[in-house]
Amino acid sequence: MKFIGPLTKPLLTFTSGILLLTPSLGHGFELWGPKWKNGEADIYINLNNPNGTNVDWDKHMRRAIDAWNNTSTELHITAKSGDYHPCAGYPGSGIPEDGNRNSTGFSKEYCGTAIDEDTIAVTSSLWDEDLNLTESDITFNNNHYAWSQYNGKPIASTRDFYRIAAHELGHFIGLDHEDNTLTPVLMHTYDETAADLTQDDINGARSIYPSPALAAAPKMQLNIEEPAPGQIASGVSNIRGWAIAKREISHTEIFLDNKPIGLIPHGSTRNDVANVHSVYPSAGSSGFSMIYNWGLLNPGNHTIKVIAHDKIGNTVQKSVNFTTTSVSNPYINNSNKVRINGTAEVSGNNTITLNDVNADGGNYRMVIEWNVGTQQWAIKTIQAK
Ligand SMILES: [Zn+2]
Repeated sequence: MKFIGPLTKPLLTFTSGILLLTPSLGHGFELWGPKWKNGEADIYINLNNPNGTNVDWDKHMRRAIDAWNNTSTELHITAKSGDYHPCAGYPGSGIPEDGNRNSTGFSKEYCGTAIDEDTIAVTSSLWDEDLNLTESDITFNNNHYAWSQYNGKPIASTRDFYRIAAHELGHFIGLDHEDNTLTPVLMHTYDETAADLTQDDINGARSIYPSPALAAAPKMQLNIEEPAPGQIASGVSNIRGWAIAKREISHTEIFLDNKPIGLIPHGSTRNDVANVHSVYPSAGSSGFSMIYNWGLLNPGNHTIKVIAHDKIGNTVQKSVNFTTTSVSNPYINNSNKVRINGTAEVSGNNTITLNDVNADGGNYRMVIEWNVGTQQWAIKTIQAK
């Protein structure tokens, strides 16, 4: 993020620019707080770029506005024609206030301050105590950059107007930079490989301007699928489930018998969750899972608790009671140390009893049963003999 300033127009001021190159990894859109009340804003556009090619800048600005409007039925940015200056009313700009109009333009300097050559464009926003945006203005740097219009690979010397305009409009509606992604996103600080809005950018806009269905939905939901309630867990297997939130989930913690055992990785693909909970942004990447060796626990009843946190401090949690069963050595490192000595019998519709098993020196009776959670045959009971 590139801060330009200081700016002292009324109340709080946020400025950002977008810089060059250096992609990174992770997932999830970022919001910076304020939003347009009722999702409604006007922006005056009358872009002419004396240094630019023969491009209809206004047309591409309107296209970028439409792209954001299409993300949510609750977002309505109205493009208006009018020659207003983005720096109007900013101290040092020498340009008189224009009635807090949102506007956009090319400029060789930024509101009386030299524009940095690393800064391609700047969005400056003002908001009130209720976190409603009151003004937002976009300035494109035509001092250090030539501008054109193309969809392909970014060219450092000539900026692609549409993608920069769409990025700045992302700030205009309330999105912050998202630099922690595995895939290209438009709202990345440096990386310009996304030539248009990506699903993550769209999810961000939907989170700020939720549909009526999302507005009515619970803030967060969570489900633990494995171990399932009452399940008999043994061996090395998964703890898994999913968590969804109106805002992005920041982290997910796991507790075993009320003791924290750390963070559980979150964000894996769950198309089935997205199908059922389609109103939630990022339901499609809501999975969490980790591997655990149940043999490390004393055989018997246990409780697992998962708590998911969103980025603004909301939490959701769920607990599951289950049972573990194990042989005395929690990790037998050689399959030759396990022998079936006695008989094996079909002891039920979906159970097999191994009457005498020697596992690393201990003798046991084991019952194997079909497990719905794991979709595999699994140990149901282990009895020492
Ligand atoms: Zn930016």
